[in-house]
Order: sequence, then structure tokens, then C-alpha cells
Amino acid sequence: MALDEFALIGRYFRTAQLERAADSSAVALGIGDDAALLQLASGQQLVISTDSLLAGVHFPERYPPAELGYRALAVAVSDLAAMAATPLAFTLALSLPAVDEPWLQAFSRGLAIAARDFAINLIGGDTTRGSLNLGVTVLGQVPAGQALTRDGACGGDLLCVGGPLGDGAAGLAVVQGNALPEGLSMAKQDYLQQRFWRPQPQLALGQLLRGVASAGLDISDGLLADAEHIASASGVALHIDAARLPASEALTGWPELQQLEWMLRGGDDYVLLFTLPAGAKHRVAQWRAAGHAVSIIGSVHAGSGVLLDVGNGYAPLTGARGYQHFRSSDD
Ligand code: ADP
Ligand code: MG
Repeated sequence: MALDEFALIGRYFRTAQLERAADSSAVALGIGDDAALLQLASGQQLVISTDSLLAGVHFPERYPPAELGYRALAVAVSDLAAMAATPLAFTLALSLPAVDEPWLQAFSRGLAIAARDFAINLIGGDTTRGSLNLGVTVLGQVPAGQALTRDGACGGDLLCVGGPLGDGAAGLAVVQGNALPEGLSMAKQDYLQQRFWRPQPQLALGQLLRGVASAGLDISDGLLADAEHIASASGVALHIDAARLPASEALTGWPELQQLEWMLRGGDDYVLLFTLPAGAKHRVAQWRAAGHAVSIIGSVHAGSGVLLDVGNGYAPLTGARGYQHFRSSDD
């Protein structure tokens, strides 16, 4: 091994770009001791979330290491956005098969770009030898009682999404080199690749939802799967109107059925899904005017589960009238 563990940490992680990516007074003690120390402002709750990334499961086996560094932090920070939190700091548990300096250099660079973009400082971690495995723990803060949880949706609320759907899945198709629609411009391919490798956690929108939205989360597993989480945690039914789902211009290059499939079931979008009391509907126009691409895509009702309207009325997603029916009728 060319570099020992401490030299490696010093060269690639204990760097100004990562330790001081943000101007943060919260970090009282960073990398180098047995543990880090954070100073929380009074009245704030600590928000903590961990994500693991495994090659072949959470990202393709072939990947650019700088993009992997960016994405690893972005997907973790998205959980802070989903809790309406402000980022404070993160730790990195890194398991590497070998010391590969060009890899470390690129990975650290991508990670530092993300740290700067999301204003979050690296405060510690662990480095071991093993198969490639990334563990990112993010810490944030939220005023006590104002975190955005999954369990507050009520009948009569509106269902909203914070940005376009389906780009993560389309981006993966581009990244994997799958057959693309004819005429999909390089600019659109680039946009989609960026949406996959550099998801933008909706931190600012999440913070605007404090005290306003009744429930929310970030879409990582696909709209339907994540809507189900709100429905079950809140004990309500969610109605989704397929005609109102927002798609990017790049996504519209694919056949309509493929677009819908990715908007509903594709993962990796990292936009917020939230419920809004009807009395706060006017906020949607304000948020849009401020540059947040919020759309109303449905509504909350008494009952359970997720019901989808693809043009024939709301139907549950399982059973004869559900989404499967739509697929066979449209094939
Ligand atoms: P200990 O043996 O006390 O657990 P380590 O030798 O593992 O400490 O780590 C030394 C210091 O370097 C600690 O502050 C730890 O948080 C930090 N560190 C280790 N690996 C990383 C990493 N990949 N990124 C950032 N900090 C790291
Ligand atoms: Mg250790």
C-alpha cells in the first residue's frame, strides 16, 4: 500500500475543501480526534440520517469516481431536505479494495463540490480495506417541532411534488448507455446524466415547508412507492392524477408509456413529495414564482393506499382496475 491510512485521510479528506466547505459555526471540533463535536443553536433539534452505497446496487459498476462522490453526498443530504432541515455536517465511512490515488483524488473532488453546493462540512469518518462501500451520515438541524414527517397528511389536503419526475430513471438509462430515443439532443442527454449523477436535494424548498406542509418525504424509490409511505404513515388515501405529473422536456423524448412508467415507478428523482392543507394553496404560486417547480398532482382523502387516475377515474394500484389494467389496455 503506497499510502498509510492517516496519510490517505490527510491528503484526501482532511482538506480545506471538505472541512470548510461551508461557513459553519456549528462544528466545534472536526476531523482528527476520536470524535467530532457539534454545537447546536438553542431550540433546534438534531436531524440524523445514514445512507449506504454499494457498487452494482446503488450505482453502476462503471462510473466516474468524481460523480460518485457528488452523488453519495447528494442523496444523503436529500433526506435532510425531506425533513425540512438545514445541513450541519457529515461523516464518511469508506471501505476501499485498494489505495488508488487517482480514484481518491477524483472522488474527493466530487465530494467537495457537493459539500460546497449543499453547504455542509466533513467532520469525520472511518477508512477501511474491503469491497467498495460508501456510508454517508448527514447531520442537520430544524427548529424543534418543525421537522417534516410522513405522518401528518389529512383528508382535504393537496398532494404536491417539488420538481419533475422520471429524470432519475431516464438519467440512468443514459448513463448505462441504453438505446435512446432518436433525436435526443446532446444537451438533453447531458441534462439527464446530471440529474442522475448530481441530484439537487431540495433544501430551500424543504425549509419553506416548515410549519406549512402537513407531511412529506423525498422521492428516492419512485412516486408510487414513496406516496404509499405517506399514505400508510398518515392513515389516509392519496389520489394521484397522472395527467398532472410534471415531466422535464428531456423526458418527453421517450414514448408516453415509458415516460409514465418512469414518473410513477422510476427511482432516484430526489424531489420532495408533500401534502399541503387546502388553505395554503396560494403558497404554490409563490413558491413557483421564487423558482421552485412545485406542482399539485393530487389530493388526500379518507381511506388508505394510493389511487391513480390515468384517465378512467381513480383506481387502486392493485387489483383488476389498477395500474396493471392501464398497462395492458395501452400496450
Ligand atoms: P479512531 O481509530 O479513533 O476511530 P481513525 O484512526 O479511524 O480514528 O480516524 C482518525 C480521524 O480521521 C478521526 O477523526 C476520523 O473521524 C477521521 N477519518 C477517518 N476516515 C475518514 C474519512 N474517510 N473521512 C473523513 N474523516 C475520516
Ligand atoms: Mg476508526
